[in-house]
Amino acid sequence: MSHTDALRYVHAHFETAAERARLDPNSRRRLLSCDRTLIVAVPTLMDDGSLRVFTGFRVQHNNTLGPNKGGIRYHPGVTLDEITALAMLMTWKCALMRLPFGGSKGGIACDPHAMSRGELERMTRRYTSEIFLIIGPDIDIPAPDLGTNEQVMAWIMDTYSMQRGVTIPGVVTGKPLLLGGSLVRGQATGRGVYYVAVEAAKTLGLSLEGARVAVQGFGNVGRTVARELQSEGCLIVAVTGSRGGRYREVGLDLDQIERTVQEGGRLEECPIGDRISNDDLFGLPCEILIPAAVGGAVHHKNAGAIRARMLVEGANAPATPEADAILRDKGVMVIPDILANAGGVTCSYFEQVQSNMNYYWEKDEVLGKLDIKITSAFNDVLEFSKKKNLPMRNAAFSIAVARVAQACKDRGWV
Ligand code: NAD
Repeated sequence: MSHTDALRYVHAHFETAAERARLDPNSRRRLLSCDRTLIVAVPTLMDDGSLRVFTGFRVQHNNTLGPNKGGIRYHPGVTLDEITALAMLMTWKCALMRLPFGGSKGGIACDPHAMSRGELERMTRRYTSEIFLIIGPDIDIPAPDLGTNEQVMAWIMDTYSMQRGVTIPGVVTGKPLLLGGSLVRGQATGRGVYYVAVEAAKTLGLSLEGARVAVQGFGNVGRTVARELQSEGCLIVAVTGSRGGRYREVGLDLDQIERTVQEGGRLEECPIGDRISNDDLFGLPCEILIPAAVGGAVHHKNAGAIRARMLVEGANAPATPEADAILRDKGVMVIPDILANAGGVTCSYFEQVQSNMNYYWEKDEVLGKLDIKITSAFNDVLEFSKKKNLPMRNAAFSIAVARVAQACKDRGWV
């Protein structure tokens, strides 16, 4: 999927929801436009003495419900259209989870895996300075996403704090624990994907014991959800990274795979099971399929081969609208991104609350609250989808769009 397609995808889901909610034209116009878009040059001194100028973005879609909230992505394919689409998704995701946040997203078109730590730090600090004026704990709060992590958040927090002359932990979430991070935040998205997979399995009458699971992406999200489902008795039959991965019918040893990756080896070369490509992954015999890597991974060419009973969207926008229609016809239950991967932003909200109180919760408290939030959002969506006879995605978007539209009206904006 091209990045223009990502925007088309998000617009299409919005339009369907707006139609269903009989949204007036003024509200539609308001909710389809972004509050603010910033494109910045990020000049960065590389280790070899050359200067590279990266392009960075920060898009704030809609702050009706509260300060903007959204991750920062470092990936070679980052474009303005992609970041805009992801900012819009954040608005709907926060509304669906009843979080007091608007939606935003940022990113830099770069390959973080081809950069040294020093290069990454210099690029991050310069980017932070460039977007300094439009971020802040009451304005817009970044978090990790594809290609970024808690170290990147620490550099952003430090650069912002230095410019303000005082330490301001609340400018980012997903920070290291010592800097005001929350327990569980690192695994929260994957945990959330796991909670919704458990709920969806109950709905389908599917036993997790022995259920076969295939996961695309073995990063923060993919690794966590794979581990959690394995602990429920699922067989993780396949995992892939950007260059493919491994398949084993009777289940993979995740410890061995993790060791290989940690020791600098390539996932697809791990000596266990058989090598598979990313495209092969989607046609594997399995009950649960979890795309947890990049947008547009499930498309009209591979959706027809999917044999899973449910597809849980760990990644943002992993299925194109064409793939969505194919999966609907095949009767595959699709748990949409704005519900399935909302554990990260929900825990980010908890991090903010803890930072504001300057009182930090124990792990079980965070996990308990996360489970309640995700499960109750799942039940809202399931109930609406049954009542209106809609797929889960349409139900989720309808609930979220109606909430933001009502809030806009309450504020007297439309
Ligand atoms: P990550 O950088 O930790 O891991 C990404 C994984 O995807 C890696 O295993 C990488 O090898 C793989 N990958 C990259 N390009 C690929 C490609 N073209 N084909 C197949 N695999 C590829 O990222 P993450 O934090 O795990 O995020 C994964 C997805 O989840 C993204 O779509 C992100 O937007 C979404 N997400 C993440 C969070 C979060 O809190 N981290 C929250 C919500 C949504």
